[in-house]
Amino acid sequence: MSRLELVRIKGVNDSEPEKAMQHVTRRAVLAGSVSAAALPLLSAKAASPPAGEQTPGIYRYRIGAFELTALYDGIWYRPITEKFIRNAPFAEVENALAAAFMPADKLATPFTTLIVNTGQKLVLIDTGTGGQIAPSAGVLRANLVAAGIDPQAIDLIVISHFHPDHINGIKDKDNDLVFPNAEIMVPEAEWKYWMDDANLNAAPADLKLTFRNQRRIFSDIAPHVTRFEPGAEVASGITTLAAPGHTPGHTVFAIHSGDQSLLVLGDTAQHPAVFARHPDWHAAFDIDGEAAVATRKKLFDRAAADRMLVTGYHFPFPACGHLIKTAHGYEHVPVEWQPNL
Ligand SMILES: [Zn+2]
Repeated sequence: MSRLELVRIKGVNDSEPEKAMQHVTRRAVLAGSVSAAALPLLSAKAASPPAGEQTPGIYRYRIGAFELTALYDGIWYRPITEKFIRNAPFAEVENALAAAFMPADKLATPFTTLIVNTGQKLVLIDTGTGGQIAPSAGVLRANLVAAGIDPQAIDLIVISHFHPDHINGIKDKDNDLVFPNAEIMVPEAEWKYWMDDANLNAAPADLKLTFRNQRRIFSDIAPHVTRFEPGAEVASGITTLAAPGHTPGHTVFAIHSGDQSLLVLGDTAQHPAVFARHPDWHAAFDIDGEAAVATRKKLFDRAAADRMLVTGYHFPFPACGHLIKTAHGYEHVPVEWQPNL
């Protein structure tokens, strides 16, 4: 409380303490200089119970005539060690995390899927974790309900690559299809690499789990999975581009409608506070670090030069924004929330 306000209260007749309290200005309360408990008249209403849960994670935007819905699936704080970045001292990595207000021993890894309504088809790009990665992820289905989208209405699922956080949402924990009416399209190069048993047998133990997970998801539905080559148009207005490095067949999507476009970057870079600012870093989860860096710079340069709207699967929700080229890398500028479509 300011000196002036104290003087004003003291100036009121001390036999009328309630009136004195009314002199405490609303501004002083808002400024935090007066405790609410000391203000019975201003806090006369019963306290509201806390909601105790997060609101739905949904964000809608338009690209030309297409309506897009970004659906949050949650976040995983991936534990990291000094092996996390192969070509930088861990102290530099810790500095980058600290500069981004992130924990030093974990990588914040949010998951945002995208539904594109082309007017002809409802297309889901990547499917989330299926609640099978981390307890703090797996809210995609709840957000679908909140967005008023019936999983049965999804016509097409398009997959960027075969890591579990992108394919596990195809099925639930009981191995049932979550989107039973959807055609599934995957990159040919991704299928070729991961479904090859020779590659599985040659893989280190932790990567073998990834190979086995892919067999769990795809083996019994293989006849219904369509494979595409880079450059293919998977739906009207959605074209594919090879973006290898993170995985051999990693694919990004360019969405065009009218005179607007969006580049769906998938895992070209994970959290931009780390990998846009340090595009040269080879993350342990990139299968070919050199190729991942080349792909990242090529796509980021293009997006920055053309001032394209981009979305990244592991960018902070709603995951879309722009990229600016800086002296040492790139900076991600999130979109402004648009109240009207
Ligand atoms: Zn991912």
